[in-house]
Formats: sequence, structure tokens, C-alpha cells
Amino acid sequence: MSKQLLFIYNPKAGRQRIRNMLSGVLEEFAAQGYEPTVHPTQEGGEAERVARDEGGSFARVVCCGGDGTLNEVVSGLIGLPCQQRPVVGYIPAGSTNDFARTLGLPRSVGQMARTACIGQPRAVDVGLANQTPFVYVCAFGLFTDVAYSTPQNAKNSLGHLAYVLEGAGRLMNVPTYHMTIHTDDGRQLEEDFVFGMVSNTRSVGGVNCMPADSVKLDDGLFEVTLVRPPRSPKDWQSILATLSGQEVSQEDAVIRFSASRITFRCDQPVSWTVDGEFGGEWQEAEIENLPQAIRIACPGNT
Ligand SMILES: [Mg+2]
Repeated sequence: MSKQLLFIYNPKAGRQRIRNMLSGVLEEFAAQGYEPTVHPTQEGGEAERVARDEGGSFARVVCCGGDGTLNEVVSGLIGLPCQQRPVVGYIPAGSTNDFARTLGLPRSVGQMARTACIGQPRAVDVGLANQTPFVYVCAFGLFTDVAYSTPQNAKNSLGHLAYVLEGAGRLMNVPTYHMTIHTDDGRQLEEDFVFGMVSNTRSVGGVNCMPADSVKLDDGLFEVTLVRPPRSPKDWQSILATLSGQEVSQEDAVIRFSASRITFRCDQPVSWTVDGEFGGEWQEAEIENLPQAIRIACPGNT
């Protein structure tokens, strides 16, 4: 008897790359004995709706698209009781695929589809930013705007930063946000920042931005990165070095720590990005970690 899975894909992701992948994906499902229920999305929010309404009837939901599609599917499944949440298979077809990179998903279409349908389930944490689920990152401030104000193919925020910084010096006048920050473990800060990020990933914007082995996806903790207003071009260099995953030594331009729950309060509304898309404009953002809330199929027994 054939096995069932729900396959949700975003035909527009990654400049429609998926059109070339589709046949290979479906053939691999068939080769593994699966008979998929196929759902191409036609508008934003649809993947979330389908995952929430239909996901509970399947043992496995495979999604294909960018990290935004994965965010939607996970957001939908988080609405189900824990024991009804299916394993998520992810076939990345976006432009940066940050989270796929962090998960170590394979690159070839056949391997990706195989991992998605028979890969080893791995528990990963999910975040909530003012109740909006996120899979790997939420952020405010500098160069987060580009993530959602530019076309899909330019969605590469840190890469964009690096590019902008090539021109150096002209970024001394950047917006600052006066933030009061509290964590569940008693850390308190009140300072101006130009950028803040709460993440559970190694890669953001196509850049491996965390030191190797410092990120665990299922430890109930986020990495928090805060960038102080730079006072000199040299500060920008150390910021860039830090955000490119190099260790900071005796620099105070960037603050980094871990937390499972963190609150940001600002004296003005702040735009936040959630998994690379616009998340909301919040004066207060309460971010919490839902430990091991979802299982994602990873290479291992394939
Ligand atoms: Mg973690």
C-alpha cells in the first residue's frame, strides 16, 4: 500500500526554480512508495492555512519553496497539538536557503526529495515573536529593510550589508533604536542599537554568521546579536567581521549572548523581519523559544 504525504510547494519561490525540480521530486516520492497529495500555493498565507487545516491528517508534510514557505508551514503546524504535528520535510528552492544550509540538507533534487520523505526526524526549536512563529531568525534595524523592500532575488540582507560596506564610511549616519532589553535569565540592557537579531541558525542572508559549533537547534536557546552604533569605520570592520562568523576579541561594537526568552522595548514602533519577511511593527517585542516544537527530516538514514 502506498504511503501518504502532503506536498505543499510555492511555484514562485527562487525565481520559479521549482518548475525544473518538480518532476524529479515527484519521481523520488514515487520511488520511496509515497503517493503525495499535491498543493501548489497561489498566494501568501496559503501554505500556512493548508498545513494547519490538513497537516494533522498526515504523518509527513513536505514543503518546497524558500525559507518563507517553510515558515508558513511550520506556523500552520504549530497551531496543532504537539502529538498531531507531522514531521516536516523541506526541499529548499529559495534564493538564500539559510535554514536548509544550517540543517545540512543535500543539494541535488533527488537527494533533497529523498531526505524530505524518508529522512531522520530531528527536533528543532521554534520561536514566537509577539505570537508570530519563526523558524530561524527575527531582526530589526539596519539592513533588515532590504529583506522585504527589494525583489525576491535581492533578498540577501547580510550579503547586502557586506556590499554596502565596501563603500565604507558613508554609513555613519544610520538609524538608531533606543532599546530596553530583558532576558529570562536576568540580563538587562538599555542602550541605542542599530541592529538586533534573535536567531537559531548558522546562516543568515547566505552568510555563515555564527562561529562553528556555537549554535544548537534544539537547546531551547536563541543567539542574540546586538550591534551598537558604530563610531568609526573601524567599528564597521569589526561589526562585519563578527557578523561573518569570526570571533570578536575585545570589541564592544557587537554584543552576543544566548537566551530563551527576551523582551525588546523601544520608544518608537520598530519594524521586525521574521524569517526574512516583514513580521510587524512593534514597540514591544516579546520573543520566546518553544523548545523542540517541530521535527524536520534531515539526512541520516537516507
Ligand atoms: Mg538554539
